[in-house]
Amino acid sequence: MAEAGLAPYAVSDANSRGRRLVEEAPTARGEFQRDRDRIVHSTAFRRLEYKTQVFVNHEGDLFRTRLTHSIEVAQITRSVARALSLNEDLAEAVALAHDLGHTPFGHAGQDALNDCMKPFGGFEHNLQSLRTIDLLEERYAAFDGLNLMYETREGVLKHCSRTHALALGDLGQRFLEGRQPSLEGQLANVCDEIAYNNHDVDDGLRSGLIQPEQLDDVELFAVERRAVLARHPGLAGRRLVHETIRRMINRMAVDLIQTTTERIEANGIATLDDVHRAPPLVAYSDALKAPLRELKRFLRENLYRHYQVLRMTNKARRIIRDLFDAFLAEPALLPPQYQARAREDKARAIADYIAGMTDRYAMKEHRRLFAVGEIH
Ligand code: MG
Repeated sequence: MAEAGLAPYAVSDANSRGRRLVEEAPTARGEFQRDRDRIVHSTAFRRLEYKTQVFVNHEGDLFRTRLTHSIEVAQITRSVARALSLNEDLAEAVALAHDLGHTPFGHAGQDALNDCMKPFGGFEHNLQSLRTIDLLEERYAAFDGLNLMYETREGVLKHCSRTHALALGDLGQRFLEGRQPSLEGQLANVCDEIAYNNHDVDDGLRSGLIQPEQLDDVELFAVERRAVLARHPGLAGRRLVHETIRRMINRMAVDLIQTTTERIEANGIATLDDVHRAPPLVAYSDALKAPLRELKRFLRENLYRHYQVLRMTNKARRIIRDLFDAFLAEPALLPPQYQARAREDKARAIADYIAGMTDRYAMKEHRRLFAVGEIH
């Protein structure tokens, strides 16, 4: 039976598949509130503050980090979840946890670690987020990890290769059967994109790597900027940028709510099981798809591949590769808790250690291992 205010196809405490290890029900909060709270109190969550989104953490105090990114994703996800009468606590929990497995130095770090791990089964940050909440957090007396609800774990694992799916038991099963996660999980995934597509424009402009005129031909930005100027003639600078971007976020979120509502209706969705069986239901309208592709292309060509960003990512790749090779050649250099893990699976233990590092910890570790004239 649906809980108060929730759509019948939303995930609830009652229709959830529960925790791997059964625990007593919480007293003054729901099961998914407890998940959200466990995530916020985790070590991996605090480390997000010092991990790169696009700009290396110490480059400026105003740019997004993985922590502020995750909070923005959670904000958008919750708003949309509430508008769709979905489980806001679950949606928020997935959004806050979605990047817990991310390496230092953003996507460059993830790609570098994946390269290092190619001979050992690869490295995927989604899978690492799951590994973090299932295994790596060491906080509770009775279990490793956070022992989160099935649907929170399912939402965090948004992609997965067939090989990994086969090894993941019931959580991997849906990839083999082509079944969809809950609407809350689908939502967190799409709202991740809404957050970064917008805040990367903001950070790009703030950093000066993108100039406002370059966005004249990017429809999503240009249309909203014209709307702002029609209402506030002469507005300029940061206020104009912010007014434009908040309208872009709103346009994407409202489109998502409307289109998803239509698709739920068109597919005759009445239960959570219908959601799993249906095609992906959380989607933008066709009208928004082309302008979104254009915005992504713009960011790729003008920000993510800007030479100053590439210099940073190039260096980051080298740091990750150096650390990995040094530990692989000499696992005795690992801190003791990782050495114990390394006796079971050397490469995976090294990947766990590196993925858990913040940007500045990775740079410090690199100096400790490689800086000539600094032997201590
Ligand atoms: Mg993200």
